[in-house]
Amino acid sequence: MGLASHGEWFSPPQASAGERKNLIGLDREELAAEMKTFGLEPFRARQLWHAIYHRGQRDFRAMTTIAKPVQERLAEAYVLEVPQVVEEHVSSDGSRKWLMRMVDGHEVETVFIPDEDRGAICISSQVGCTLRCTFCHTGTQDLVRNLSSAEIVGQVMAARDALGEWPGQPSENQRQMTNIVLMGMGEPLFNFDNVSKALHIIMDGEGISISKRRITLSTSGVVPMIGRCGAELGVNLAISLHATNDEVRSRIMPINRKYPIASLMAACKAYPGLSNARRITFEYLMLKGINDSTSDALALVKLLSGIPAKVNLLPFNAWPGSPYEPSDEATMHRFADLLMSAGFASPIRTPRGRDIMAACGQLRSQSLRARQEHHHEDEDHTHG
Ligand code: SAH
Ligand code: SF4
Repeated sequence: MGLASHGEWFSPPQASAGERKNLIGLDREELAAEMKTFGLEPFRARQLWHAIYHRGQRDFRAMTTIAKPVQERLAEAYVLEVPQVVEEHVSSDGSRKWLMRMVDGHEVETVFIPDEDRGAICISSQVGCTLRCTFCHTGTQDLVRNLSSAEIVGQVMAARDALGEWPGQPSENQRQMTNIVLMGMGEPLFNFDNVSKALHIIMDGEGISISKRRITLSTSGVVPMIGRCGAELGVNLAISLHATNDEVRSRIMPINRKYPIASLMAACKAYPGLSNARRITFEYLMLKGINDSTSDALALVKLLSGIPAKVNLLPFNAWPGSPYEPSDEATMHRFADLLMSAGFASPIRTPRGRDIMAACGQLRSQSLRARQEHHHEDEDHTHG
């Protein structure tokens, strides 16, 4: 899939010469190598890792485990920079949406959805998305770039800041952020290297320490990358399926023309570590008159047979100008019942955070939209 073929494609910002380098987003080996070049012993790199990812510290001069002169030198050479929260919206149901600004001025949205005994943050992997599924608001955004590993892990860190859940902070002992879902803006398997590096940092037991069992990566079906996702990351997999035949799926999800349903299902069957306790989640967006008939439900049952699977039925969230309508409630229940009687757990997901447009598939930066309106007058997209 040609990434540059739709809209604009550009790379994450790199610190220019003379600027202080961001240490966030380096994996353990890279941090150790960087510190070696800087003249510090390996155990110093480990102390630094702990201060950054376990304690959540951003100020070298406050790192009491590190000698004063070393603190000074580090502060002169490096920064610890995460995206800046520029807006916070809190829903009446407790979910929150943060607009996070990157150093180059681009913005992504990160959402926190609390539940009784757990809570998930939904993070973004790209600014915008190249794939242009016809039901998705993110895919209508023109500007697209990959997020760096720093920007991906930084969303988790900024969320932990906002929730006050680092050691010594008020909510440390009742952490609500227990799970991570990659279901925000972008296609994570189109940015595999940075997503992989960020997830390894997040999963590291001496740092943020959220295990692979509590992380779910959602993909529109980038078939060639699904095996690596399982083998190298081992996280839970969610597939945005949304249709049961290639004709409909290609119409609403252009990626299906490249990787049709049969190839997607074969990749799912081969996903490592599947069992009844560890299933693939199939997301199925209910679009009125498009994919919500009884024969669709039966076709779905047939497609999933032999795969340890659960189905999430998603009510379509309409956005201004969206070309579809949500299925009727009765239709959704009938669909769910059919799946249920075939043995598939298939809850209808109640949309959370509707009042703040926090639901998946609605994420699209408002200020980027404003910027886009000036897009043609302004050839330089690196706004500060
Ligand atoms: N690009 C990946 C990750 C984003 S996940 C993927 O597509 O899987 C975002 C989830 O929200 C996907 O399941 C997507 O299909 C769904 N979604 C997109 N637009 C939506 C809408 N308008 N209403 C409800 N869900 C939507
Ligand atoms: Fe991209 Fe996923 Fe939206 Fe499709 S549903 S446009 S793949 S973010």
